[in-house]
Order: sequence, then structure tokens, then C-alpha cells
Amino acid sequence: MSRILPLAPVVVDQIAAGEVVERPGSVVKELVENALDAGARRLEIRLEEGGIRRIEVRDDGAGITAEDLPWAVAAHATSKLARPEDLECIATLGFRGEALASIAAVSRLLLVSRPRDAAQGAGIRVEFGRVSPVEAAAAAPGTRVVVEDLFAELPARRKFLKQPHTEAAHAAAWVERLALAHGDAGFRLEHAGKVLLAAEPGEDLVTRCAAVFGPAVAGRMIALARRDGPVILDARVGPPEAARRDSGRVHVFLNGRWVRDPRIVRAVREGVKEFVPVGHWPVLVLMIGLPPDRVDVNVHPQKTEVRLRDERVVLGSIISTLRSGLARAPWATRSVGAVGSAGAGQVAERSIPATWREPPAPLLPLARPSVSEAAVGPLISVARTFLAREVEGGMEILDQHALHERVNLEELRREVRGGRVVMQPLLVPVLVEVTREEVDALLARRDALARLGVDLEAFGPTTVAIRGVPARLERLRPERLVDDLLEIVREEREASPERLQEEILFRMACRGAVMAGDRLEADALQGLLRRGAELPQDRTCAHGRPVRVFLSVADLEKAFHRR
Ligand code: ADP
Ligand code: MG
Repeated sequence: MSRILPLAPVVVDQIAAGEVVERPGSVVKELVENALDAGARRLEIRLEEGGIRRIEVRDDGAGITAEDLPWAVAAHATSKLARPEDLECIATLGFRGEALASIAAVSRLLLVSRPRDAAQGAGIRVEFGRVSPVEAAAAAPGTRVVVEDLFAELPARRKFLKQPHTEAAHAAAWVERLALAHGDAGFRLEHAGKVLLAAEPGEDLVTRCAAVFGPAVAGRMIALARRDGPVILDARVGPPEAARRDSGRVHVFLNGRWVRDPRIVRAVREGVKEFVPVGHWPVLVLMIGLPPDRVDVNVHPQKTEVRLRDERVVLGSIISTLRSGLARAPWATRSVGAVGSAGAGQVAERSIPATWREPPAPLLPLARPSVSEAAVGPLISVARTFLAREVEGGMEILDQHALHERVNLEELRREVRGGRVVMQPLLVPVLVEVTREEVDALLARRDALARLGVDLEAFGPTTVAIRGVPARLERLRPERLVDDLLEIVREEREASPERLQEEILFRMACRGAVMAGDRLEADALQGLLRRGAELPQDRTCAHGRPVRVFLSVADLEKAFHRR
């Protein structure tokens, strides 16, 4: 064995950097947090090549004195904790005093700062841990940090970086999170000269949500608030049609800090599960306020995991606030058709034809465009949900999910009527565990299901196997189908076979459709429109929501006060 020697400080910092600095996004997070801790009101973040080449963060916060600059880039030096007891009660985003030192150990860092009352500024440069002396520098009040060539001298780490656009997306995600939690501060994020986020200081949460999620979603988010002893909850939840399969738009903040705690996430899932389709996550912002001494944030170097003193109370509060609040949401029943949510009462309501809505007012009778017209009209996708294009006499806006659902339903119905549903056999049958009664209930309808293109078999006393699904519903997930079938069979116990068949067709058409928020390739869009144009009916979706809204030139003229 060789002798035991202490590690060189630069190596210590590089090792620490392994925990804090994963990628450009983590640098952006730390720098923005520092600016917010310094009381900044305006922050500007500029990235080049996804931040790999260059990251610049400017703020108008308190600044750092020339004497303190070497301390700012030294490890384990911070202005945020003075006494050991302070660690029990953290009110700032940073406190570990290692971010700048870690970043400087793995990049070329320039830190220029000027406190508000200082006559001039000063700067310090650190290149891969090599610190240069402090120099006077021209600077506006506040702080500017430039980080260049991240990991350039650490090829082993550099090779884990992704393409610039992916890295930019990670960085943007952090800026969005911090912007949601800090409405008092203004943010401007640019990548390669393009503005990715712009938000003015002093915005309320609704306006801030609009900046991050887009005005359409933000306008339909509902607010839920609750106070349970020391626990304060304030949540904003987006409508079911904006739900997505990934949890990227679920944001949980604890005392202003974005956290990703598995137990909190589970509580959120529990609270929303009846209001979004299975396997989906809503757009959700959850602010949890707790006295700082009831939380331990010093669990993880990136400070995204936490330990809660009264965990059970907090988690219980989250679940019940979301559940009871969402049950009263204005869109809880309205959008059921669009997403096929599994709430029992809602499904019952949906299956009574009288409750299907007539399309609302702006929907005017629309001359169906010819097939060739549908194929060539240039389309604009809005919020990955709506498609707009010019048609004869005005313009048309389509809902991609509603259109796809209607196309699926009509095409499948036609196949069923003709007794020629094309079935796609599954390479590997999908096995689903159910109860004995449920196996029997499904098998009793085996022939009816086969006519709809679903091949289902018993695979043991409490298991069914799905061997095939309708070929044209590429997006249908077989595991999901069994749950849906069981639910329909339960709800429609007394229904005629025709009614049952319609109900299953409806459900499959919906499940096999693109969701609002899914990105579609231009080809797929055009294909969908072409198929829609060939249908006997493509004005409303299977549940009566409009597929298309037509605005005539006259409508547009009215809107612009030209008439
Ligand atoms: P921490 O934030 O945990 O204290 P950092 O390494 O991120 O550790 O920063 C070290 C110190 O540098 C901070 O405690 C703060 O005093 C100072 N500092 C860093 N960034 C800024 C900034 N943008 N404005 C003012 N002070 C800053
Ligand atoms: Mg910090």
C-alpha cells in the first residue's frame, strides 16, 4: 500500500463538484439560487451551446465586496450560516458554501461584483481550480458570473453531457422552477440568442404560470389552498386535457425550494389520481410552507431531497387538499369525455346520452374541405393541442385529440359494421392480474370483444391475457384496456349488447388518440386531417366536444372592429 496523504484542495473540490455540478443545468440552478439569495429583482441568464460553452448569470442583488471575492469561490465558505444552530433553521436557498468552489474547479469561472454602495466593482477569475488575484473591474451594482468550457479539462465527465438542445432544456427547466417559486423576481433566459423564458418582477402566481406553461393552460388552472396547523398549502392544478405521461410539469416547492421527494410525489399522485387518466400527471404547482425548523434540507448535495419532521401530517394534508379541491373543479365533469377519466360517478354521467353537449356557440356549420385541400393547407400547431389553418371563407381551429378520437371511432365503427376489424396480434401477450369474477365477466364477452378486434383469453384463474388489439389503434395500451373493459362491464351491467359495444368503441377511440400536449409530426397531422375529411362526421368528438371551430372572415372582421 502507498502512504496515506491528504488530497490536494483542487481534487477535493473536483470530487465535491461531482455531487453538485452534474451538467450546465445544475450550474444555472446554483447561480440563480445565489442571485435570489442576494435579493436580486432582475436576473438575466444567457447560454451558449446549451451552457456547455458558456453560461452567464447577471443579477442586481446585494453584490460581493472585493475582500470577500476569494471567499466566495473558496469551498465551505458562506455568508448564509454563521452559527451551527443556523443549520437547524435554513431560510436561504444556499447554505453549503460549496457551489461556486465546485463550479470553479471544473470550468473557467469569472465572478464580477459590485455591492450597491461600492464606488466600483471587482472581479476574480478561477480556471479549473487555479485562482487568480482580485482585480478592479467595471460593473453595474450586482453580480455577474460567467462559466465557460464546463468539464473541458475533465474528459470523463464531459462525455456524459448531451446535445446542446438537451442541456439547454435541462437548464430551462431549472429556471422555470425557480421562476415559479419567486414571482417577486424577473427572469430572462436566452439560449443561442433565443428567448426561452421572460417574466417580469412582481408577478402573481397566475401570471407566472402563464409565462411557464402558456396562457391557455394557466387560464384553466384552479387554485387550492389550505392551512393545517403549521402546514400551509397553496396548489395550482391544470385541467385534465393538459395532463401528460411524464411528471415534468409537476412542481413541488417546500419553503420556496423546488424539491423532488419520492414520498411527496407519491402523495401528489394519490391526490390527483382520480382526476387525470391513469399513468398521467397534471400540470401542478404545489407550494408547501413549513416553519424552517420542521424541515431538514441538508440531506442531499443538490438540496432537492428533504426530511420532514411531521411527515404524516404534511403528506395527509397534500392528499386531502388535492382530492377535495379537485372534486369541486369546474372541469371535473366537463372534460371527462376528453380524457376518459376513471371516476365512477363521472363515467355514469357520461354514458347518459342526454348529457352530451351540443357544440358551443362559435362552432358554425363548416363546409368540409376537400381531401386535396386538407392535404396541402399549411398548419400551425398551438400549445401542441390545437391546429390552425386557413379554409375557404375563413379559418379553422382543430383540437388534435378530439379529431383523432373521432377518426378512430368512425373508422373502427365502419370496420366493425363490415365485420372486418383488422387485429394486430401482440408479439408477447400482455398478462393482467384480476379477480376470478372479473376473469369470468370478461370471458363471457369474449366473442363480442373479438368482433371489436380485441383477442382476450383466460391465462389462469386470476389472469387474463390480451393477445391482440385493433391494428389501427397504434396508441392503445393493452394493459390499460383491461381496466377500461372491466369498468365498462361493471357500469353497463344492464345495457344491451349494442350499447356495450358502443361504449367500448368510444373508450378505445379515446385511448387510441393522441393527447393534448403530444407533439405530432407534420406527416402524422396531415394524415389525420386527410382521414378526418373522409368521415361522414368530423365536427364533434365522440363525446360531443367540438373537433373544429370555424371562424369566418366576417367573425374575424368583427373581432378587429372592421365591421
Ligand atoms: P452558498 O450559496 O451555499 O453560500 P456558494 O458557493 O453558492 O455557497 O456561494 C458562496 C458565497 O458567495 C455566498 O454565501 C454569497 O455570500 C456569495 N455569493 C455567491 N453568489 C452571489 C451573488 N450572485 N450575489 C451576492 N453574493 C453571492
Ligand atoms: Mg449557493
